[in-house]
Amino acid sequence: MNEDTNTLVHDVVIVGSGVAGLSAAVYAARADLEPLVLEGPEPGGQLTLTTDVENFLGFPEGVGGMELIQRGKEQAGRFGAEFVHGTVEDVTLDDRPLELSLSNGEKLRTRALIVATGASARLVGAENEDELMGYGVSTCATCDGAFHRGDDVLVIGGGDSAMEEALFLTKFADSVTIVHRRDELRASEVMAERARDHDAVSFRWNTELLEIQGSQDEGVTGATLVSHPDGYPKQKLEASAAHGDVADQAAKTRDAGEVERETVDVGGIFYGVGHVPNTDFLEETPVELADTGHVETREGMTTETTVEGVFAAGDVMDPDYRQAITSAGTGSMAALDAENWLDKRAAEREVATEQDQHAEPDAAPIEVDASD
Ligand code: NAP
Repeated sequence: MNEDTNTLVHDVVIVGSGVAGLSAAVYAARADLEPLVLEGPEPGGQLTLTTDVENFLGFPEGVGGMELIQRGKEQAGRFGAEFVHGTVEDVTLDDRPLELSLSNGEKLRTRALIVATGASARLVGAENEDELMGYGVSTCATCDGAFHRGDDVLVIGGGDSAMEEALFLTKFADSVTIVHRRDELRASEVMAERARDHDAVSFRWNTELLEIQGSQDEGVTGATLVSHPDGYPKQKLEASAAHGDVADQAAKTRDAGEVERETVDVGGIFYGVGHVPNTDFLEETPVELADTGHVETREGMTTETTVEGVFAAGDVMDPDYRQAITSAGTGSMAALDAENWLDKRAAEREVATEQDQHAEPDAAPIEVDASD
């Protein structure tokens, strides 16, 4: 960032450098908007943690997630997008231009903002999870799998991420057990079949991770699992602890009584239980968020949020599709929406200036904020 940081007003700042942010950057840069892209705590986003991407159009043999991101960054840079490291802590969206406060104390001002902050790995809330995260508990098999050569490992979750993590871990681990809280996978059939067909992969149905054993010195040594024939065993335990009427309480107690506990020896635990959108910095702003934390966009095919000049793209606004290709799509839409909005604002300013020039000499001047 240069010394003009405090006075310079950007046309577009893009927060996030995953596939949505990069796609927005390519489009905005090609529209001569000279976008500034803020690379946050996870530059490149979730794709940098994945292995092969097999369903991104145009790559019949698949493409590495990291490679796709690096190429996207190169492409955006070629058209003039600028990349800087910085995490947004706070945003002021009531005034124009919009103002972003970064964790390093710097401030950025921009006419339009594209939020492409993606989503981060969800945790399961097992006992000792925080203490052992990074010491045998991981949310990223591609990052940490190689530390588990010859181990027996668990993968928690029943979606595509869990299947992908499990399959990747078979390269290193002796055995991989997928622990899923019900008896039906959420994963796509193709991914589920690959996991089911792999000799080193097995499943624990209707089971959840309650507690992790180990220490930061010796890593993970074991896990306590709970299971119930109807699934969701942790809910059953939690429900029995909450107070209800007598009949209700009896049913809950019976349910909880059917929960079985087992401690297994494992050397690693990988979470593949989905993601939560990174929208903490928007919580106190007029940008409307859904109950899930996702940014709400206006009705219809648009990336406009409830605040003029603020657009959202990728996993941060998409609770349903969450694909690399759809993120690239909404990223491009956000840049086009921002460009149209900036053009409209510029045209409105021009008209206001013209009216001002032709106004009666004693009429009050029409206010135009030159920075907006
Ligand atoms: P997901 O589809 O939301 O699946 C999350 C899984 O974790 C579900 O099975 C869920 O159980 C389980 N889960 C959630 N919270 C839990 C908790 N607290 N304790 C235990 N289990 C919990 O998330 P995802 O697998 O990350 O996939 C996200 C999107 O990315 C999907 O659209 C997927 O298709 C896509 N994706 C694609 C690929 C690929 O094609 N190669 C790879 C990865 C991801 P329930 O089923 O009971 O809800």
